[in-house]
Amino acid sequence: MEKIGHYINGKRVAGTSGREADVYNPATGEVQAQVALASDAELNTAIEVAKQAQIEWGATNPQKRARVMMKFVDLLHRDMDKLAEALSREHGKTIPDAKGDVIRGLEVAEFCVGAPHLLKGEFSEGAGPGIDMHSVRQPLGVVAGITPFNFPAMIPMWKFCPALACGNAFILKPSERDPSVPIMLAELMNEAGLPDGLLNVVNGDKSAVDGILDHEDIMAVGFVGSTAIAEYVYSRGAANGKRVQCFGGAKNHMLIMPDADMDQAVDALVGAGYGAAGERCMAVSVAVPIGEDTADRLMEKLTPRVENLKIAPYTAGDDADFGPLVTKEAHERVKGYVDAGVKEGATLAVDGREFSMQGYENGYFIGGCLFDNVTKDMSIYKDEIFGPVLSVVRAKTYEEGLDLAMTHEYGNGVSLYTRDGDTARDFANRINIGMVGINVPIPVPLAYFTFGGWKRSGFGDLNQHGPDGFRFYTRTKTITSRWPSGIKEGAEFSIPTMN
Ligand code: NAD
Repeated sequence: MEKIGHYINGKRVAGTSGREADVYNPATGEVQAQVALASDAELNTAIEVAKQAQIEWGATNPQKRARVMMKFVDLLHRDMDKLAEALSREHGKTIPDAKGDVIRGLEVAEFCVGAPHLLKGEFSEGAGPGIDMHSVRQPLGVVAGITPFNFPAMIPMWKFCPALACGNAFILKPSERDPSVPIMLAELMNEAGLPDGLLNVVNGDKSAVDGILDHEDIMAVGFVGSTAIAEYVYSRGAANGKRVQCFGGAKNHMLIMPDADMDQAVDALVGAGYGAAGERCMAVSVAVPIGEDTADRLMEKLTPRVENLKIAPYTAGDDADFGPLVTKEAHERVKGYVDAGVKEGATLAVDGREFSMQGYENGYFIGGCLFDNVTKDMSIYKDEIFGPVLSVVRAKTYEEGLDLAMTHEYGNGVSLYTRDGDTARDFANRINIGMVGINVPIPVPLAYFTFGGWKRSGFGDLNQHGPDGFRFYTRTKTITSRWPSGIKEGAEFSIPTMN
């Protein structure tokens, strides 16, 4: 059985805590590896080596740090197939989708090549009599990232690329469900020229997370995962005086106006609702057609598309739409929600619960499910299901549809399909959700913009990657200077002003 340990001080090390978790192949249901769960001592060792290594790295000029990112990007391209295969084997997503996972992270590394520019401070000559004032951005020290299973390449890179480019050392605590790729990424960073000790991968569970949140040498924590844990990490980290940003769950709505191109809207819904088996924080899980006629036209076109989704293990080739869910628990949870939806009175237009993959009967496969006539009080509407289940909520008017999205507790992403510019502009202006798509179903901002949800999808200040990533992983120092020729004789007792 393969054993996955940690990556500390530039090398793979075996776990020594005696605690491990099983890593499954979601397509077969077999345990294919065991991942070590770190003890406090292992975590503390990683933090100590990071602390030592950061001193020199923080003082290294940003251009040299950027060159490591440049080389890292090349190595990601070189190892793309290997990374995608390892990712799909533990996560279950298709190979093209796994490559997308790597590429979306790689794009953040590309953005971080601009570190010398992004870290430039500000300078005001003659801010007062004989006085100049400037500000600099300095690294925080040792910082940490805690990441979810659903993007085991992209989300770790969202975190460690800006943090390292800013001159910090990094502790990554990835998901214990698909731990191989994060360690491969750390190896590639070292191959790209990152000195040992700056990027450490500590595998673990709640105990490692608590250790990070309580350790006095961790200056900032970036978390991505479910809302309940995001809120916990935010409260505990902030109570310990750390800078913390936590991104949580989602229930992303897509409104379809009567004037929308229905074929485009249906293409968008099947891709965004069922891609990656719905295991994306930006998946569309609620479709809101405006008006009965729009709803009827939508269901007529959508139903056969959901019935004919192609589901397969990643090994079956590149033309599958999606693969299995990540674990048996996820499979049971998603099925449980579909059962609940039926009990609560929604119309199950497509039932994927009994789907079985020939030759992979023990895998965690489920077919696409489609509900019509879903209402606000149902659990399938209120909760994040994180599976291939789309709920159609019929709204009479645009205002009613807008109100649905605005009053939902989550505020990650939202989308509107229309040909009308006025409606689109009104929607983008009024909606209280962090990422908005106009005729775009999954509006994930590119690496040079920032990513983050509102309401119970995000806790703390500043978003991820883009300019906010550089702000989060640095602190600003402002320096005011005056030289003897500009200093008047005599002590000043009142606060200096510009009067
Ligand atoms: P999760 O919350 O179960 O796990 C996330 C991380 O927290 C993992 O590293 C895990 O080991 C750790 N963790 C789990 N239980 C913990 C506990 N009790 N105490 C401390 N740490 C704990 O999330 P997941 O199932 O891996 O990922 C799916 C979730 O992530 C979904 O809710 C999805 O919407 C969300 N997500 C959000 C974003 C975003 O940017 N908003 C992006 C991707 C995924």
